[in-house]
Amino acid sequence: MSPDAMRVRLHLRRLRVLEVTVDEPERLEVVVEDTRSVVRCAHCGFRTRAVHDRRRIRVTDLTYGGRPTTLVWLRRRFRCHQCGERFLEECHPEFVRNRVTWITRRLARGLVRDVNRLPIRELSRRWGLGWHFIMGLVASWSSRVVAERRRRRCRILMVDETSLRRRHRYVTVLINGETGEGLGVVKHRDANALNGFLTQQGHRWLKGVKVVVTDGSESYRSAIRDRLGHATHVVDRFHVARWFASGLIEVRRRIQRIGDKGSRPAYHPEIFGSRYLQLTRADRLEPEARARLETILTTDPDLAQAWELYQALHRIYTAEDNEGANEALGEFLDRHYTRSLPEFEPLLDTLLRWGDEIFAFHDTDRATNGRLEGTNNKLGVLKRIGYGFAPQPTSATEPYSSPPQWHHGVDRDEGLIPRHRADPTSAEGGASMSSPTTVASCCKSHTPTEGPTSTAKPKAIHIRPRTDLRSQLQVRVCAHNRKAEGGLRWDHP
Ligand SMILES: [Zn+2]
Repeated sequence: MSPDAMRVRLHLRRLRVLEVTVDEPERLEVVVEDTRSVVRCAHCGFRTRAVHDRRRIRVTDLTYGGRPTTLVWLRRRFRCHQCGERFLEECHPEFVRNRVTWITRRLARGLVRDVNRLPIRELSRRWGLGWHFIMGLVASWSSRVVAERRRRRCRILMVDETSLRRRHRYVTVLINGETGEGLGVVKHRDANALNGFLTQQGHRWLKGVKVVVTDGSESYRSAIRDRLGHATHVVDRFHVARWFASGLIEVRRRIQRIGDKGSRPAYHPEIFGSRYLQLTRADRLEPEARARLETILTTDPDLAQAWELYQALHRIYTAEDNEGANEALGEFLDRHYTRSLPEFEPLLDTLLRWGDEIFAFHDTDRATNGRLEGTNNKLGVLKRIGYGFAPQPTSATEPYSSPPQWHHGVDRDEGLIPRHRADPTSAEGGASMSSPTTVASCCKSHTPTEGPTSTAKPKAIHIRPRTDLRSQLQVRVCAHNRKAEGGLRWDHP
């Protein structure tokens, strides 16, 4: 009977298979060597080919046909004729290592990708690798991805805060609004945190930023004025909606009380029970809900007025354009001066302070922080999943990243094949039975690319010239003030 003549390539560049030492159904072991025979001396740079001895290093590779595969790399020690020193061959470009663990680079890529779907602990169990080793791979990958992302131009920058531990550890999260890619998670939520990040990014990158969306925090605003004065600053509409709601909530709290503290019922059951209904936008109310709300609103004229004011404020955002928004604002002011409620006065103050940033919403094609809130939600989920683990420095203070999309010619398969459920027909990513190894499709460097987002041409941003809202608001307010003769107590800036 003739021996098995099937030949499968290793697909690892600069490696030659010398021998298959173990070829069992549950295990494969292949001895390999670097194809280069001449190397430069590590001490004097003289070229030498004299091998002093060889060491055997076990390198874990992707499974081959479902079989766990180990490459035994004969790492050579050379002798230099020039200086007489002996030196060890440097780490092969296809391998990654820490102190004791060696794996192939393609396995490292697969591990980083699979972290997206499996816990590190599970991967560690399947591959017999240390948890910290895999975590180290993920961390080094994420820092490379973030460095790459930060180099790219960002036209819409989204900034928001979130807490990693409520009331204790706050961070500032920054993402690219067009691609949704995270740019960084910076410690603290003050002007210094944002300033530090922006300073790192450099003048040229900052010049590329056209729109900044924040959550309406004064400290972020001061950093943006310093560093991104040329960009249009928008305050996120969902945060503003919360400001809008505050007046109505305060009015409701004032009027809902019907009994002393501790008595039952202390609150008007209908008014208190419909508190969420009151906060719903009028155009989103179902007919029955609307009818119920109207009955409740008739019980108190202040509540009805507060609700009308609140709805008028919403129309600033539901308006089609800046003109419509200005009309809605006018409507709110007219209504407010007809029958003013003290609970809405702080809101007028806020409108004066943040008017430009609120109205910039319409100038920037309705930019919001929605995307960033989604990212914050993911951070929260990650944090909860990670509960109980020792705090890793990479989790909170360093930038996070999504798993990579590889463009390496060899590594085309989707994720790793689990050892026990591997596809036996797949010749992808395995060790070969024979030499030589030729990898023509392998790229020189493994620079990260990130899917279609990096190549897609970005959409143009149209920023319309903003109307001078502040002066318009002031003129209106002054006129009303004169009419009301001190009926309002807030000062004009
Ligand atoms: Zn030498």
